[in-house]
Amino acid sequence: MYCLHCGDCCIRMSPLTSDDTPCPKVLQDGNFYFCSINSHKPKQCENHRFPAHICPIGMSVLGYTTLEEARIRIDEGYEKIKLLNKVSGVTKVDVKIEGEL
Ligand code: SF4
Ligand code: SF4
Repeated sequence: MYCLHCGDCCIRMSPLTSDDTPCPKVLQDGNFYFCSINSHKPKQCENHRFPAHICPIGMSVLGYTTLEEARIRIDEGYEKIKLLNKVSGVTKVDVKIEGEL
């Protein structure tokens, strides 16, 4: 399932917080949200999937109605992740390019 990086699950449902406060591991870049511990995120986050090619929550949160809008967003997220990975040597962020949280 492709993530659209809307942040909804990480902001509202992180298994790392006891209430509904944002996850301390989420990275925000404009209105994009990325997991900074993607390669070793909690099992609950790994399992946050829907039987859909593109996350339906992200489609709803972003108000998207077409696959084209989602494709552009996924491409933009991919470029942002590449940039974050480049910086990771300095900041120690751990963001993988896989299009999913
Ligand atoms: S995917 Fe990462 S940022 Fe999102 S809730 Fe899980 S640990 Fe936090
Ligand atoms: S998995 Fe879905 S709800 Fe969570 S950040 Fe990605 S698009 Fe948003």
